[in-house]
Amino acid sequence: MNKRQAFPIGGQLVAAATRRSVNLTLPGLYTNDPVSMPVHVLHGRHDGPVVFVSAAVHGDEINGVEIIRRLLRVPQMKRLHGTLLAVPIVNVFGFHNRSRYLPDRRDLNRSFPGNESGSMAGRLGHVFMSEIVKRADFGIDLHTAAVHRDNLPQIRADINDPILEPLAKAFSAPVLLHSAAPAGSLRGAAADIGVPVMVYEAGEALRFEEMSIQIGLRGVMNVLRRLSMLPISKRKPSKPSAVLRSSTWQRAPQSGILRAQAKLGTMVRKGETLGVVADPTGESEMVLEAPFDGVVIGRTNLPLVFEGEALFHVGRTRQTTLLEQHLDALHDGTAITPPELVEEPPIV
Ligand SMILES: [Zn+2]
Repeated sequence: MNKRQAFPIGGQLVAAATRRSVNLTLPGLYTNDPVSMPVHVLHGRHDGPVVFVSAAVHGDEINGVEIIRRLLRVPQMKRLHGTLLAVPIVNVFGFHNRSRYLPDRRDLNRSFPGNESGSMAGRLGHVFMSEIVKRADFGIDLHTAAVHRDNLPQIRADINDPILEPLAKAFSAPVLLHSAAPAGSLRGAAADIGVPVMVYEAGEALRFEEMSIQIGLRGVMNVLRRLSMLPISKRKPSKPSAVLRSSTWQRAPQSGILRAQAKLGTMVRKGETLGVVADPTGESEMVLEAPFDGVVIGRTNLPLVFEGEALFHVGRTRQTTLLEQHLDALHDGTAITPPELVEEPPIV
């Protein structure tokens, strides 16, 4: 058998059948301290796709960091076909500052594909595109909701992409939201150069949420199995996602104090009350209603709201029975994977 060629990254070569951490050089700190983006490369013995899994593109979205740590400890990784590029902390600067943004106050996920001689965000984006995305066949980018917000575990992908659609479904998150990539996002820039990327959104910024982490870990493993990079599991296959063809944000009709009435993961009927916004004296109440029959897939947890602020993210689906099964499993805790992966105590 011909031995696989070594994998080039960050000016180094990773031999077949080995794994190694490589640090990609980034702009340093003004204290003259160097900064780098850590990448763990698993270059399998056997041929197969090159897949990247990234987290903390928004520096305060940390569930994905833990998903990647667990992924790298999964015993089956020894039998990986192809190559996995695991990037647990893309926005190293934001991660240090516990912030979504970069020190230049830009949003990295609106700065792709970046530019070698551009802004700080642009340079970081360029490093990620040239070292990771351009070497990959496919990617999974792990996110959470922004600070003081919560997302139901969900995949976001363009399911009109014939390569991405079966992989996004294979992840088997409770819901799969069909959506176009935002301008300047990693997902959009990667698609532009022919590398399909799905985004996993789950939980809240600056928090670990065990169910989101376990569903995410299982999902990444499901995708690697679907790509024949890992052996097929003997376990019962995960339930398919309920597909949401569209979604909309209900925004605050006025500034004030929100009394939220719809929890994350509840099914709502058109016209049902999601919450009430009022001034502190309780006068001038305004009711926020569900725009259509759907499910709450994201919401704010902070009751202090400005007019126009996005408060409830409602998704629309026809697969209501399947969706109900997922929501029941999430609510009673049975959506969590049995510990097939690494035996360790859950984060509570
Ligand atoms: Zn994010």
